[in-house]
Amino acid sequence: MIGQERGDIVYEIATRKELDVDPMHSYSETLDIKMKPNFLSIKDLRLVEQSRFPFWVFDIDNTCVTWANPVGLDLWRAESVEILRERSMQSGMSSSVKARLKQFQTDFWEEAIFDEMWTMYPDGKPVKLLCRFRGCTLEDGRMGMLCEGQILEQEPTELLRGAQALLYTGVMVSTYSSDGKCLYANPAARRAFPPNGIDIAERFLDRELRHKLLNFEEIEYEGTSLSRVKTTEGERLHQIEAKLSFDVATGERSLLLTENDVTESERAKAETIYLANHDTLTDLKNRTYISKNADNFISDAFEQGQAVFLSLMDLDRFKYINDTFGHPAGDDLLIEIARRLNSFLPEDSIAARLGGDEICFLVKGPKYSRQAHTICAKVLASIREPIFVQDHELRLSASIGMSQSVGVRRTFDAMLQQADLALFDAKANGGNRTSIFRPELADKSSDFLRYETELKDALQDNRLELYFQPKVSLEFDRVVGAEALLRMHTADGRTLYPNDFIPVAEATGLINELGRWVLEDAARHHLELRRQGINVELSVNVSPKQFLDPNFVPLLRSFLSMADFEPEQFELEITEAVLLADDNRLKLILNEVTDMGYRLSIDDFGTAYANMASLQRYPIHCIKIDRSLFLNENHEILALSVINIAKALKVKVVAEGVENTQVRDWLYENGCDEYQGYLFSQPVPYDEFLKCLGPAS
Ligand code: C2E
Ligand code: MG
Ligand code: MG
Repeated sequence: MIGQERGDIVYEIATRKELDVDPMHSYSETLDIKMKPNFLSIKDLRLVEQSRFPFWVFDIDNTCVTWANPVGLDLWRAESVEILRERSMQSGMSSSVKARLKQFQTDFWEEAIFDEMWTMYPDGKPVKLLCRFRGCTLEDGRMGMLCEGQILEQEPTELLRGAQALLYTGVMVSTYSSDGKCLYANPAARRAFPPNGIDIAERFLDRELRHKLLNFEEIEYEGTSLSRVKTTEGERLHQIEAKLSFDVATGERSLLLTENDVTESERAKAETIYLANHDTLTDLKNRTYISKNADNFISDAFEQGQAVFLSLMDLDRFKYINDTFGHPAGDDLLIEIARRLNSFLPEDSIAARLGGDEICFLVKGPKYSRQAHTICAKVLASIREPIFVQDHELRLSASIGMSQSVGVRRTFDAMLQQADLALFDAKANGGNRTSIFRPELADKSSDFLRYETELKDALQDNRLELYFQPKVSLEFDRVVGAEALLRMHTADGRTLYPNDFIPVAEATGLINELGRWVLEDAARHHLELRRQGINVELSVNVSPKQFLDPNFVPLLRSFLSMADFEPEQFELEITEAVLLADDNRLKLILNEVTDMGYRLSIDDFGTAYANMASLQRYPIHCIKIDRSLFLNENHEILALSVINIAKALKVKVVAEGVENTQVRDWLYENGCDEYQGYLFSQPVPYDEFLKCLGPAS
């Protein structure tokens, strides 16, 4: 309000075109611009002659007014300057006022200006004035005082309202002297300021701002800042607006601070930013963040001559864990996986959860370095370590698809697409591995959609067929059983293999329908063999997902009511990986199935780190040694340990993928029960299988 009035004075002067200045400049600035030094001489008074505010010149030595403009004369109730000059102001002037005026006189030579509230008594009646005093040299060269007044009583209601607003506002308003001492604090400020630390030096915790506020006169600091401040509620964040002003009581330069507590809103703002960029469950970055920042990350690496490795990781049986143990367990699992992943990632990498159990991480490194590959290997190994989630000990594996950008600038989207194809490849090859993108995978990608359509058509047109691979007794050298292996014939006469379409069936949910078809067809062949008096065991592969199909157990139960059906010659093969989840629901289902008389076999044993303890928990009848064990240099040791485990558990042991006589002979010598493999026969159609029954030679 006061500043506004001062603006009006300037405006008035400027419109009279007596000064060539911007009318919006403040009064003091106007005179500062035109007048150096910062005091006037009596000759310059024409500048304020016509002002609507009272101006007068006081001769300090003679305690009389020597000049006044017309409004000034009105104020002093004098008809002319001459009459006013005659009036001595000495009577009634206290000695302290006199001393103060003398001090002013000295200070005016130093170009001082004072803004003060004064009460004058022009004709014995008090008039409260807000005054600005500055120097004015008199005709004889002595220093006088130019006074500019603003009568406060003219606007008492406005002043009162202003004071009231200051009392009740929640905004903290305070003023400070040049040494940082608090001169005034409104009630809101007093409530917040610590009682023993209201000055700038004690209150402001941010050094830079504190320095500016303490030196506002030199730095001319004005502006808005955020600062941590000490308050009665502890450390808070305040938004502070600093304005330079004059203290109305002393006229000294002072600092006016307006403060708002923005702790909560800034916290909410920070939280919003955090939420927008992070996955709240795992604390990893989210898809939005990585989509926005990955391209820069890749470009930076390219410019630094580094390679970028994008890895896309997915747990091998996450849906299964979620379905079996519930979502809270799935959530805990993801938190633990993220923690393990983080422990291997370098500082300048980005890891984000893209959704579900899909986690993507970007690592940069020297071209052709194996650093990223090593990280993937370590991450996969750490995931294989037991994970305790909600009282369950889970043993899991994950797969990673990796795409690399070496010496070229690639987009994140393109890299992600390639990593996705590589991930699919890793899964299709049994999971628990890292697959690196290679161009031929791009051709395979369209296969997924194609297989899905082919599968649906094949189911509808009955173009599925079970082939049978004989199982041979090593002791008796004759066929004692067969594994049923699914084949799909396309409309144009090609045959497709399960490694290609089973993952598609599992991913699309078609596996239940497909699995049912396999079980029914295998049961049909089993009955046919029985009716021909051929006592061979048939085994059928069952996907982990099928166990969770509510129709699975009832279907097996329905077979029991068929005449001649013999569940003890009907074996279900489940992969080793299924055991690792130590899943109670699965245990119940497997017990129910074996209680009905079915046999249970563990397929691909030796690929997924199951141990004796996990095998003992399940009602199994047979272990199948995975073919990969015979490809290994140490196959003898590994195969022998599997045989020993089987013997210890008193279950049958079958070797898969036997291609030569050496392996077969070794198996025989080491007590393996049966083998299957190309050495004896490939999987063949049923009719051909019938032909190879009888003694093997
Ligand atoms: P698996 O159960 O381990 O079956 C053995 C696989 O090894 C078969 O491949 C078989 O053809 C192949 N094989 C047998 N002997 C040899 C050999 O001496 N050398 C080599 N290199 N390979 C040999 P196939 O038929 O392609 O089946 C692959 C996998 O697909 C099976 O592995 C099984 O996990 C899955 N599968 C097959 N049929 C079904 C089914 O009906 N349902 C489900 N859920 N999965 C099935
Ligand atoms: Mg099998
Ligand atoms: Mg197998």
